[in-house]
Order: sequence, then C-alpha cells, then structure tokens
Amino acid sequence: MVVIGAGVAGLACAGALHDAGVPVRVLERSAAPGGRLGGDVLDGRPVDLGAAYFTVSDPGFEAVVSRWQDAGLVHPWVGDFQVYGESPHPAGAGAPVRWAASGGLASLAVELAEGLDVTCGVAVKDLTVLDGTVVLAMPAPQAASVFPAAADLAAAQDWQPSLAVALRYRRRCWKPLTGAFVNDHPVLTTLCDDGSRRGDGAPVLVAHTTPRFAIESAAADVEAAVRELLDLPEAAVTVAARRWPAARPTQPSDSTFAQVEGVYLAGDGFGRPRVEAAWLSGRAVAAAIVGNQNPKTPRTASRAR
Ligand SMILES: Cc1cc2nc3c(=O)[nH]c(=O)nc-3n(C[C@H](O)[C@H](O)[C@H](O)COP(=O)(O)OP(=O)(O)OC[C@H]3O[C@@H](n4cnc5c(N)ncnc54)[C@H](O)[C@@H]3O)c2cc1C
Repeated sequence: MVVIGAGVAGLACAGALHDAGVPVRVLERSAAPGGRLGGDVLDGRPVDLGAAYFTVSDPGFEAVVSRWQDAGLVHPWVGDFQVYGESPHPAGAGAPVRWAASGGLASLAVELAEGLDVTCGVAVKDLTVLDGTVVLAMPAPQAASVFPAAADLAAAQDWQPSLAVALRYRRRCWKPLTGAFVNDHPVLTTLCDDGSRRGDGAPVLVAHTTPRFAIESAAADVEAAVRELLDLPEAAVTVAARRWPAARPTQPSDSTFAQVEGVYLAGDGFGRPRVEAAWLSGRAVAAAIVGNQNPKTPRTASRAR
C-alpha cells in the first residue's frame, strides 16, 4: 500500500491503515510532512503560513485533538474573529473554537507521522512503477499531474490560490487582536496575530490574500496593506511569504473520497476545505480499503491517529 502525500489526509489514511495491520508507506515530495499545514521559521521562530487554525466537530477527530492537547501540542485559541469590512460573515455568536499549535501546525503532521514509514523528498511522477494499492492524498489538480485518469475529477474542482505573508515587527504596535476576517478588501482576506495564536506574544502578524492578489502580488504590497488596515506606525522588519497555487477548493464536496481506476483520491477537496475534512477523508479511504465498518476502532493499535 502506498500513500502519496504526507499532508493531514495522507497521514490520517496511513495511520489508520497501519493501525489496522496493513503495511503502508508514505511518499512525500517536500522535505517534511505537513503539506498545507506548512510554515516557515522567521527570525528563529516557527510561523504558520498554511492553515491559520483548525476547528473540530467530528468525535474521531476530537479524540486526536485531545491527544494533541494532552501532549501540549495544541490549545484552544479563540472563538469569534474580528471582522473588517462591510459584508456579513459567519463569524460571531456561536463561532466554533479555533485551535492553534504552539509549535506551529506542521508539528501535528510530525506527530501523525510518528511510527509510520514516511519518506520525504520523493516526488512521485509515475504510478505504474509502484506496487499495490495507491492513495493520492493531495488536491485533485496535483493528483491529475501524476495520474491522468483523475483529470475529469480535477476539472470538476475549482481550486483558488492564496499568498500567505508573515510580518515581524520591532514591537507589538497594534490594538488587541487575535484574528480577523477582512471582507471586501482587494488584497487581504484574513489577518492573524501569530503571537496571540502561538501564545508567546511575539510581534508577528500573518496575512492571507485574495485569490486574485495571490497571483499578481508581492509580499511588500501585503505589508503595506496590513499597515494601512491596522494604521500601524511602523513597517515590518522581517517578511516571509509562501504562495499556495491550490490553497482551497471553492465548492464543498458531498463525497469524502474518490476512487478512479482502482486509485484512491483523498484530501480536503472532499468534504469542506478544512484540516478536519482532510483528516476525515484520509480515514474514510483507509476504512474503504480495509473494509472496516468502524474506522474509529483500530484493530491492532491503542491510539487513534
Ligand atoms: C493559506 C491557507 C489557509 C488555510 N486556512 C485554513 C484554516 O484556517 N482552517 C482550516 O481548517 N484549513 C485551512 N486551510 C486548509 C488546510 O490547510 C487543508 O484543508 C489541509 O491542510 C489539507 O490537507 P491535505 O492532506 O488534504 O492536502 P495537503 O496538505 O495539500 O497535502 C498534500 C501533500 O501531497 C504532497 N504531494 C503532492 N504531489 C506529490 C507528488 N507527486 N509526490 C509526492 N508528494 C506529493 C504535497 O507536497 C503535500 O504535502 C488553509 C489552507 C491554506 C493554503
């Protein structure tokens, strides 16, 4: 069994297969697991440049989050986000708890990968050289580039890009902030106080851009937009950026995974485009593979990954 992609979906799938006694290896093209949980190190401090946070609704995922919390990896960060701009937004009363990781969200991928056979730095280009069942745990456009039979599926999904920019300042020079949705803005969609998110009070903000700006933009323009939005008295001293060509699909999908010519496809393209959906998709593929009616009950291991 080969799982390609060591994001949340691939690691959840491989973990469930491993726990069910199915030999599985994971191949990942990047140097480290995490995928869109990825970040950077800014002036010696990790900063999240992928998912801003995650939310929890599924009991199985909740059990994993409890494990992370017991291990000191995650903490509930905030419920409501502030809102800039005119449009109504789902934030407000009844907003879900948004969870954050003090070591960065990629630390959760490292935890999920523990005990698994994960090889990083391997970009799979041809599935025909692989033995056994294959799971492609990645956005469908990436899957189609190595597995042309997934082209129709990829064409049916509309993925939008995003540019994430981390900005480190000399000091905390803004009014109290946790996270904010920025509506009707030509550049910004989300702004997070990473010092609040990580719990260390560092003077770091992380901005996510609109899909259109993600294509055209430069990090310096994002820095200027943040300075104007928050009316900051000074510019950032260090800037790090990461462009995500396929950040999120625009339409939620009803299915939790797909199977095309015997190859499984998993990821947050199935369900709502969230960390939790990716985890659920990976688990659903594993359950389908082992034919297990109850994927939350591992046969041979004591923990639900
Ligand atoms: C800017 C941004 C903000 C977000 N904000 C939030 C948020 O606030 N809350 C939330 O819940 N979610 C958020 N998300 C979405 C969340 O990050 C994803 O839902 C989740 O991480 C997807 O996991 P995945 O495993 O499905 O895919 P990915 O994380 O994309 O994993 C796919 C993996 O496959 C690997 N891969 C691809 N092709 C190959 C190949 N040929 N060979 C080997 N490996 C390959 C990739 O390198 C990658 O590691 C955000 C995403 C982005 C980009």
